Amino acid sequence: MTALTLREVSRVHGQGETAVEALRGVDLAVSAGELVAVMGPSGSGKSTLLNLAGGLDAPTAGHVHVDGTALDSLSRRELAKLRRRSIGYVFQDFNLIPSLTAAENVALPLELDGASVRRARHAARSALDGVGIGDLAERFPDAMSGGQQQRVAIARAVVGDRRLILADEPTGALDTQTGETVLKLLRARCDAGAAGVLVTHDARHAGWADRVIFLRDGRVVDASGPLASVDTLLSEAP
Ligand code: ADP
Ligand code: MG
Repeated sequence: MTALTLREVSRVHGQGETAVEALRGVDLAVSAGELVAVMGPSGSGKSTLLNLAGGLDAPTAGHVHVDGTALDSLSRRELAKLRRRSIGYVFQDFNLIPSLTAAENVALPLELDGASVRRARHAARSALDGVGIGDLAERFPDAMSGGQQQRVAIARAVVGDRRLILADEPTGALDTQTGETVLKLLRARCDAGAAGVLVTHDARHAGWADRVIFLRDGRVVDASGPLASVDTLLSEAP
């Protein structure tokens, strides 16, 4: 099944003279197991695309489907639930909660979703093990390096087996080697069956993806890789 589909998606920010067409008629389909990189100059609409894919923002025109569900068909509450259960977000600046330990940060989305504290902690622990920092579970973000904090952020994005992982320049604040490690983790999650979208400026990082799409002025101007499959994938969505 297609984990993420954008169909003729446009997004205008603002109104009147100051309106900005951040995305113009974008089509994109990402399958389970696939990692797609999004590249393009600053201001080309990459973050807007990711925010729409994650249900953090809504398109002005067009439709977004996650796991076969049209986001615009959901109530606010249903959308929040789908986001907690199915979508993991990794931000450039980590966005960890400083007053919570690594394990508590990772467990939080599950607890918000009604999991028992015990089950949430257990899942958090295995997610932290999965990114190689199980031994830092009780540390606070301030006591961790940037690379360790980003691993916590990735564990939080994948905990509870989320199907769609969205990462907006997740390596931006990291040194090259730590950046590579983060990319390998994302790749491994996709190999394990998640769908991933990675915004990056770094062509070497994009090399971890199955295909790359390039945005310019809100349009997809080039897409490398097995693009012939896009039409097929789009036609599968309800
Ligand atoms: P990128 O991530 O590729 O740098 P963005 O998606 O952040 O691009 O932005 C695309 C365009 O939309 C830019 O011109 C930006 O200034 C504009 N934009 C983004 N978010 C907003 C907003 N909330 N209000 C107004 N304009 C915005
Ligand atoms: Mg951006």
